[in-house]
Parts: sequence; C-alpha cells; structure tokens
Amino acid sequence: MSPSATERAQEAQGAGRDQRAGSGRAGAEGPDVRLLAPSADPVELAEEVTLRPRRLAEFIGQAELKEHLSIMLEAARRRSEPVDHMLFAGPPGLGKTSLAGIVANEMGASFRVTSGPALVRAGDLAALLTNLGEGDVLFVDEIHRLARPVEEILYPAMEDFQLDIVLGKGPAARSLRLDLPPFTLVGATTRTGLITGPLRDRFGFVARLDYYRPEELELVVRRTAGLFGALVDREGGAEIARRSRGTPRLANRLLKRVRDYAEVRGDGTVDLKVARDGLELFQVDALGLDKVDRAVLDALCSRFGGGPVGLSTLAVAVGEAPETVEDVYEPFLLQLGMLMRTPRGRVATPLAWEHLGLTPPPTSVGPPGAAGGTAAGASLPGGPGPGGGEGSPTLWG
Ligand code: ADP
Repeated sequence: MSPSATERAQEAQGAGRDQRAGSGRAGAEGPDVRLLAPSADPVELAEEVTLRPRRLAEFIGQAELKEHLSIMLEAARRRSEPVDHMLFAGPPGLGKTSLAGIVANEMGASFRVTSGPALVRAGDLAALLTNLGEGDVLFVDEIHRLARPVEEILYPAMEDFQLDIVLGKGPAARSLRLDLPPFTLVGATTRTGLITGPLRDRFGFVARLDYYRPEELELVVRRTAGLFGALVDREGGAEIARRSRGTPRLANRLLKRVRDYAEVRGDGTVDLKVARDGLELFQVDALGLDKVDRAVLDALCSRFGGGPVGLSTLAVAVGEAPETVEDVYEPFLLQLGMLMRTPRGRVATPLAWEHLGLTPPPTSVGPPGAAGGTAAGASLPGGPGPGGGEGSPTLWG
C-alpha cells in the first residue's frame, strides 16, 4: 500500500511533533542551526517520507526486533486478524515511525498518523477512532504526552475495541458505548518511564530500539546515497556513519550536508578526505559531538571544575532550558561515558576532560567500569577508529 496524499501531508506536518532542530543556542558563535539536533524540522520530515523504508526487508539493523515483528505479522496475516498493539521506545531518529509504517504496509492496511500532543481533548481521539477502518494501523507518536482523559478513552478502545462517549454534562449526562472495528495501535515514545502502567499493559508487544552500529549506519548511508544519486565511496560513507551518533536520521542529514560540500568544494564524490573536511567545517567532531555538546562539557569542566553541578545551573551556563539539556544533549554524552548523573548533580568523567584537551583534577570520577579512554565505544556500538575496512573505492551512488 502506498500512502495517500493526506497521509503524506500528515507525516510532513509531523502531526504535532516537537520541533527542536535548529534550536541550539549554547556556544552561540556560528549559525544558529544544530546539525545534530535529534528531531527533524518540517522540511526534513517531508524529505524523510521519501527515504523511509517501506518493507521490513528494507529496514536496516535491529535484527532481533525485526525477527519478532516478522513472526507477529506473518501469524496475524495467516489468521486474517489485525496484529497486536505495539509500542516502540527509543531515542528520536532510530526508526520508530518508519517501523509503524512498515507494520501497516506489511499488513496491507491503511496508516493513520497522529501524536500525543496533537490530541488535546478526548473528542479528538474519539473522532479519529470512529473513522478507522477494519485492520487500520493508528500510529500515535510521543504517546507519553497524551493528556489523561484522552489516554482513558484508549483503554477500552485497545482492549475491547469499544469507545465510551459521555453525552451532555452534569446530572443529565449519559454514557454511550460504540463498537470500533478491530485495529492496531502503534505507539512511539522517547520516554518509556513516562508511560503509565495501565497504558503500557495494553500493548501486546513492547520493543526498544537500540542505537545502530557504525557498520549498520554505513548501510543506511549507502541506501540513502543510492536514493539521492549521491556519489559516496566506502571510506567516505564509513566516516559519516561513525560520526552519526548511532542514529539513521543523523546519518542521512550528515550525508546531505557532506554531499553539498563535495559538490561545491570537490568533484562531487564523497571520499574520506571530503567527509572529514566537510564534517570539520560543520563542527561535527570525530566522536559525533557538535559545538553544543562541547559547550555543555566545557561549562562542566572549565566553569564548575568537573562538577557535581545541578542540572539547572548547568542549563543556565549554556543558555538552554533544563529539560532541553536533559533530553537533547545529555543522553549522547551519557552514552559516550563523558557525563554522569549523580544524586549531587552532573559530573564530567576523565574522558570528557581528555576530549576537550584539558587535564582533569586528581579527584575527577570515571564512569563505572571504564578505565581511562575506553568508555567511548562502551555503550554506543563501535567508536571512532581508523577508516572503514578494505578501503574499496566502490561508489555507492
Ligand atoms: P523516529 O520515528 O524514531 O524518530 P524515523 O522512523 O522518523 O525515526 O526515522 C528517521 C529517518 O531515518 C527515516 O526517514 C529513515 O530514512 C531513516 N531510518 C530510520 N531507521 C532506519 C533503518 N533501520 N533503515 C533505513 N533507514 C532508517
């Protein structure tokens, strides 16, 4: 099934998504654009629609998750039933929306898109649910941001395909129960901890998407280069993959910028040198940190002696809201083992000092189990390293 124009428009609008790309302010020299912002801006969202894998076989990485999904989908198809409700959790840009679309495609079902913040009143969700056809896939992005009364409408809808509507107000109010066609709800969340117990329990399948390994991201870069007709050699692609923070959306974004660079400053081919020079110009360093990440680390080390320092103090120091520091910047620094959250506040690890070229004070704390400079690749699969493998000059585009 290919998406209708309305569905594409819904996707392009991002259906109420949090638009944070370009909101970076800290360390504010240079253009006010954050190349590594985790969320997509509206233009990028529209472009992503064309880049999204449509079938499970096209979806790169996440092998275990894909296997579970393929079994569930096959079983549901054989029974001619809609597949169970499912919840995908994980950081932005890892493929949750793509997977939801794939579930609909693989089931030959229509795909409806909305998001937690877009459903303000219970009636908004009721209107969507009553318009569903049999077997439709309803995707609710940022489902942890559903208002409580809206969420409560979902419980009987998910469990018994029933909709409880209250007509009127006060003593004259009457409740009405409507039957809904069987459908599949696919929820996505970046914050599993914020999903209420009753909602989570109603999903038959809950999966967490992991950051991608560099070799998987190389495949993402190769696939996107093919779709764009971009000329990228193996080492150039590997370099982009290594600096993409384990995230396909960022791999695609860096590829686009580096391709522009290659066309303007080179002969149009993205090789290792062009990728390195371009990414340096865009201030994405060898670990995939940008200037805002470095500003956070720099404030922590240079101004607060490595911490511990409270989240709000750190946020003021880099000119960001505490939630933005916590949700947008810290997760990757935590992944790399450069920052720790302790009960007394944020602490820079020796790796952070080392990365900034500073000498840590003797008491600086290290990440658990990490000695010296080994933590970088500890949780994010693979780390920076010398160029990707055989160095074949094969062009992917
Ligand atoms: P999320 O919903 O988790 O924020 P998306 O599904 O919107 O992530 O993915 C962002 C972009 O990254 C998509 O347009 C798609 O091109 C690409 N992408 C994500 N995961 C994969 C994957 N496993 N294989 C290929 N491309 C992917």
